[in-house]
Amino acid sequence: MDELSVRKIVLMALKSKWGPAREQRTLAAYERYPDRVIPFIGLNGVSPISRDVLEYVDGQLATGKFRGVGEVLSRHYGFSAETGAGTSLEAGDYTIPMDSPGVQDLMCLAAKHNAVLIVHMETTAATVPALERALQRNPTTKVIWAHQTHIKTLDGSTAQHARKADPDQIADLLEKFPNLYADIAPGFESRYLRSGDGRLPDRWKDLYERYSDRFVVGLDGPFLASWEEPTGVARSATVVRNWLSDLSPSTQAKFAAENFERILVDQPSPGSPCEFLTK
Ligand SMILES: [Zn+2]
Repeated sequence: MDELSVRKIVLMALKSKWGPAREQRTLAAYERYPDRVIPFIGLNGVSPISRDVLEYVDGQLATGKFRGVGEVLSRHYGFSAETGAGTSLEAGDYTIPMDSPGVQDLMCLAAKHNAVLIVHMETTAATVPALERALQRNPTTKVIWAHQTHIKTLDGSTAQHARKADPDQIADLLEKFPNLYADIAPGFESRYLRSGDGRLPDRWKDLYERYSDRFVVGLDGPFLASWEEPTGVARSATVVRNWLSDLSPSTQAKFAAENFERILVDQPSPGSPCEFLTK
């Protein structure tokens, strides 16, 4: 982080099954670097969102140590890839619709504890309407929709689907739902990055400037290999910094830190109990 001039990191543990062992790893890092680490409960790979998971998350958020939960893998494309270093990266295929009982209950818990919910949801004809229904029912849950960049896919996972997402669709959602935010971390679609992607297309630049209060940066480092490789995380940081450099100085400052700091402290609703839909 020092080498890359990254001041703070949102940390969500991934290794092992969900449960205290995950969160202890995050808290150990936080206790060592309290000024640098923002602890989140790690939900990567947790499916289904069962009653046990919900009760666990409720209890962990009640400790007051965690500022959020994520990534909920609402729609996540599975893949496996070889790295240059001879290790392979594997990620599972997940579908947990945003309007399903488990995610609705999580959204309720996030609102109850004033925590942020980070969602990984690929854009398809089915996922976006489900997100709309979920946001309508949970107007005070702070949701960050991860990976909203000009390289993202639409309606499929192949290279042909990349760069097809519509910034007007994101603008429409941001307009309708003041509790929706997004990050610009290069996610699944970064496997399709090519040299011309270093600059922001005008329509995306317009989206980011128009909704400059609603986006945050991100690195997306779910694989240990990308932290161990000297170029792994540095590459993501460079991509994100290039995109930022196409934006106005005030928007850059908001995306880089100000928006996230504000989202964390913003409290859109008083905490109230959740009646779980999940049986
Ligand atoms: Zn993701």
